[in-house]
Amino acid sequence: MWIGVDDTDSSTEMCTTYIGIRIAATASDMIIGYPRLVRLNPNIPYKTRGNGAISFHLGEEGNKRIKIGHYAGKDIYSNGEEHPLPSSEEIKKTVISIVEELYVHGEPNTNPGIVFLKERPNPEFYLRCLREDVPIDDAKAAIDKIGGEYVQINIGRGIIGAAASIAWEPGLHTFELICYRGSIHVNLSRAEKLEAAKLCDAYVGTFNNMDMENNTPSIFPRERTPVLFGIRATNPEILLTIFNDLRIRFNQIPEDFLIYETNQGTDDHIRAGNGFRIDGAGIAVEGRIMGRPRRMRGGHLTGELASGNDTITFLVFEPSKKFRNVFENLNEGDKIRLLGSVSRGNVKVEKLEILSLSHIYRRIPPVCDVCHVKGTNRGSGNYLCSECGKILLPEYEKVTRNIKEGRFQPPVSARRHLSMPWEISGTMEEVK
Ligand code: ATP
Repeated sequence: MWIGVDDTDSSTEMCTTYIGIRIAATASDMIIGYPRLVRLNPNIPYKTRGNGAISFHLGEEGNKRIKIGHYAGKDIYSNGEEHPLPSSEEIKKTVISIVEELYVHGEPNTNPGIVFLKERPNPEFYLRCLREDVPIDDAKAAIDKIGGEYVQINIGRGIIGAAASIAWEPGLHTFELICYRGSIHVNLSRAEKLEAAKLCDAYVGTFNNMDMENNTPSIFPRERTPVLFGIRATNPEILLTIFNDLRIRFNQIPEDFLIYETNQGTDDHIRAGNGFRIDGAGIAVEGRIMGRPRRMRGGHLTGELASGNDTITFLVFEPSKKFRNVFENLNEGDKIRLLGSVSRGNVKVEKLEILSLSHIYRRIPPVCDVCHVKGTNRGSGNYLCSECGKILLPEYEKVTRNIKEGRFQPPVSARRHLSMPWEISGTMEEVK
């Protein structure tokens, strides 16, 4: 059985993944693989924060029991020994009661949805939810088609994300270990938080945990929710090692955690992109720089790219900080690849690859070969020797560019959850 849950929190309270650890704690040993935390279209207006939805696959796998979390004094396992599962009615009742207890009541923007399915919806539904604004009725139709059930609270918009989370068929995947404080008061100083985030960064395969450019410990969320921190990595084993190290180093860190399999850092939104036809879709586009990119009001930057027969305007926002400087050094004719999201026909840039730099030449005054003096400019590119009056042809020297071909991206705090950091590009194995 598949269970999906979404839209249980508000911008100041709760986190759907906390409902996840509560469900996981009651379903220990029944979970197959890892619980899933799936990020969807980052451009839709209803999201509270990162547009994440969670799901679980329950069944009697029993072949490779692994520890995936801990809650209230007990470890949480997946792929547990064969055992009779509780009836699906009992499972549904438990999940519904956990969601009903914990969702943020009385918030017009909190519209929980719970989905129970025997099989997964077509992965195309997931891809649509990455790039489009999908109506609730389409989610209901996808669920009905495979004989599933859903529970709606308020307008139940959460069933869209809940169904999409189940429909995700990982090609690439990463993992996030989320540590929960619940209602425990944890008081780590800024220096301790920085040390913790740097410790995560020291392990191979981790990503987006520490923002060195802004000196920000990115594992700690800005909002006060039951989440203390989330550590990201390309494999789950390293996460357990890091968590143990952190708990040894900082005895305030609580024991409760859950590891999620996620589509974070996979660039799936780019894969689901659909050219310029859909606002909000991810896109990868190659072309040559036209003119020179320039700063706008507010510190943002814009420029034009010639790609095929199109001229594409791109935008790089202020929080990207030094990433903007790379664009300021681009010049007419440089060949680049941009990855980003489409917004009103423009591209909001998430990553840049400089494929080749054009050669730029600067005109310099020629030297008279008879008198050895520099020619003086007579306008229109003509030079004249001031001694003998001979007309001289201009000379050109190659300008040294102060950028190089390569891959560039914003600092960790300005990256999107789905965006694949260059440092893990090519390091992930395809999921079979
Ligand atoms: P958190 O990350 O803390 O869980 P959030 O940013 O995920 O919060 P939600 O509270 O889950 O935000 O709200 C997002 C809502 O948008 C959900 O109801 C979800 O079903 C819906 N949604 C997600 N993707 C799409 C989409 N592509 N089209 C329409 N609705 C969507």
